[in-house]
Amino acid sequence: MYFGVDIGGTTVKLGRFQGEGVLQEKWELPTRTGENGKYIFDDIAASILNKAVQAGGQPSEIKGVGMGLPGSLLPDGRMEIGVNIGVKDIYPAKELSDRLGLPLVCCENDANVAALGESWKGGGAGFRSMFLITLGTGVGGGAVFDGKILKGSHGIAGEIGHLTVRFDETEACNCGNRGCLEQYASATGIVREAKREMAKSTIPSVLREIRNLTAKDVLDAAKEGDPLALGVAEAMGGCLAWAMSCVTHIVDPEAFVIGGGVSAAGEFLVGLIRKKYEEMTKILSEKAEIRLATLGNEAGIYGAVRLVLGK
Ligand SMILES: [Zn+2]
Repeated sequence: MYFGVDIGGTTVKLGRFQGEGVLQEKWELPTRTGENGKYIFDDIAASILNKAVQAGGQPSEIKGVGMGLPGSLLPDGRMEIGVNIGVKDIYPAKELSDRLGLPLVCCENDANVAALGESWKGGGAGFRSMFLITLGTGVGGGAVFDGKILKGSHGIAGEIGHLTVRFDETEACNCGNRGCLEQYASATGIVREAKREMAKSTIPSVLREIRNLTAKDVLDAAKEGDPLALGVAEAMGGCLAWAMSCVTHIVDPEAFVIGGGVSAAGEFLVGLIRKKYEEMTKILSEKAEIRLATLGNEAGIYGAVRLVLGK
């Protein structure tokens, strides 16, 4: 049996897999931060051993564990900083393998792991190369070519959330830059842009009636043809198209897969992007496919297991 682990800021998602990637069961643990990650790895190890026994197996039948973590991993496996989980300068694979007495533990950045999962069993299955864009609280991404994650030299390959897509921005992004994709295409960014547009104009909009506006409200209203919401959605689609065009001109994936909470807007969202993307990639006669992710929040555990199976 194999285990896939996806460590997030509030929960750790785990899955037990059999053989070539058949998910047998999945569950979650709360992320207990503190003591530089000690509790997180204690909890994961105890839970995996427990589930192995519950499933009628022995700890010796655990063949490998893959993990996705919220932060960059250096080529030597060191994680310099994981802000959301309160760790600094640790070797996550060693932390877990020591506790489990298991040599095969593989780790990767969570966005890359999700990309690997989607390319293996999700929206990118069947393509030799694909680029995942995750639209959630932030914007993440990852590239998978021939079953391998494109890591880059500094661990940020695929992180398109901080690609500059607008040059007239006055507010700073969380990263310190101005005009990052994340400022327009994340759930937070969509709401921010809608509020800005409402403040700037007197265009009537159903959004003006909504308290605690969400990205879903904006995209739902856009689907219904609300002019202000549609303007925000189209601008967002344009920013994504620009970023995807940059990706295409550099690594040329067969397909883009769009995931994360915002992707619940479905084909409407794909439509917002596709037209502009095609305009910006005139150089190609055959354009990259744009698909929706299909694994939801299981992408991480699938990708984590794929990481181990690929070793
Ligand atoms: Zn940024």
